[in-house]
Amino acid sequence: MTMEAKLKKQLQHLDGVEVDWNVMLTGHTSLRVGGPVSCLLRPLNLAGLQTAVQVLNKNHHPYFILGRGTNLLVRDGGSRAAAISLESGFSQIEHLDSAGRVKVGAGIRLNRLLRFCLKEALSGLEFIAGIPGSVGGALRMNAGTHAGEMADVCEAVLLLLSDGGLSRLSGSQLRFSYRNLELPPNSVVLEAEFSLTLSSREHIRDKIRALLNTRKDKQPWRLPSAGSVFKNPPGDFAGRLIEAAGLKGIRVGDAQISTKHANFIVNRGQARASDILALIQLAQEKVAHEFGVQLELEIEVVGNNHNT
Ligand SMILES: Cc1cc2nc3c(=O)[nH]c(=O)nc-3n(C[C@H](O)[C@H](O)[C@H](O)COP(=O)(O)OP(=O)(O)OC[C@H]3O[C@@H](n4cnc5c(N)ncnc54)[C@H](O)[C@@H]3O)c2cc1C
Repeated sequence: MTMEAKLKKQLQHLDGVEVDWNVMLTGHTSLRVGGPVSCLLRPLNLAGLQTAVQVLNKNHHPYFILGRGTNLLVRDGGSRAAAISLESGFSQIEHLDSAGRVKVGAGIRLNRLLRFCLKEALSGLEFIAGIPGSVGGALRMNAGTHAGEMADVCEAVLLLLSDGGLSRLSGSQLRFSYRNLELPPNSVVLEAEFSLTLSSREHIRDKIRALLNTRKDKQPWRLPSAGSVFKNPPGDFAGRLIEAAGLKGIRVGDAQISTKHANFIVNRGQARASDILALIQLAQEKVAHEFGVQLELEIEVVGNNHNT
């Protein structure tokens, strides 16, 4: 992916920002597919992130935040956008009081946060057991299961706005809905405050174990995927509809509608994004034709079809 030389030069020498050019996202997404982005920026602190965003905005160059890429399908042609990763500098966890309120950096992995909760005997986030990704991505997606979702425990988020200012959203300003948190355009979640409760480690561990066991029974956890591909339509389940449409196990190239859970598409080896997109289209068309239901994507599709 090309980037104007002037912008490249400016990004190359930013204080507190590591940069790699022309980075294939295959290795940065859980589906293990996708072409390159023009660059991957890793700000080490807030000042670095602010300058990077400022430079990109000044040059009208598109960018997006790459969490752990567990809800993303990057097209084979990649994207001319810059990807920004918070994994290097936004990973603090801090107690806000002794009653269970904690402040957590957006770059932290969910499994690390869960280990912290277990160690500190804090209950409320057990539902993230088995959900991969970062705190920032999980908030943006309002990640969760029937056992709970981020909206249940998130009290506030701190955002970096596209004009470089900071904004703290709390209470009714937090517009969570099913697998979504509405954010101002191009804003970045920097950290979140969670309201948890003091509990016993045994109780938390039992809950986590039970959730992980159910997940292992029902989901294809051995193969690369991006979790549920479609949102569940009101009153039904996307997986049930896709299975009833006779599509479980169907393949395009190395992409397959999982034989274990029809709302998962797995990569059996060398799948391309175009194979996965073909299965998505097939599932949407067949389910619409057979049941009159339009399946809406839960995963996010990024980039271009061709490497231009
Ligand atoms: C095996 C498997 C199981 C899964 N199970 C579940 C499940 O049970 N429930 C569920 O809800 N999800 C599930 N998922 C999906 C996914 O794990 C969650 O949506 C996840 O938390 C996304 O986090 P991420 O860091 O990978 O985000 P990414 O995929 O990197 O990004 C997702 C979106 O969030 C944005 N984003 C990321 N970080 C920030 C930030 N700091 N500020 C602003 N925007 C940001 C990105 O730009 C993108 O739009 C599963 C995925 C897999 C692979």
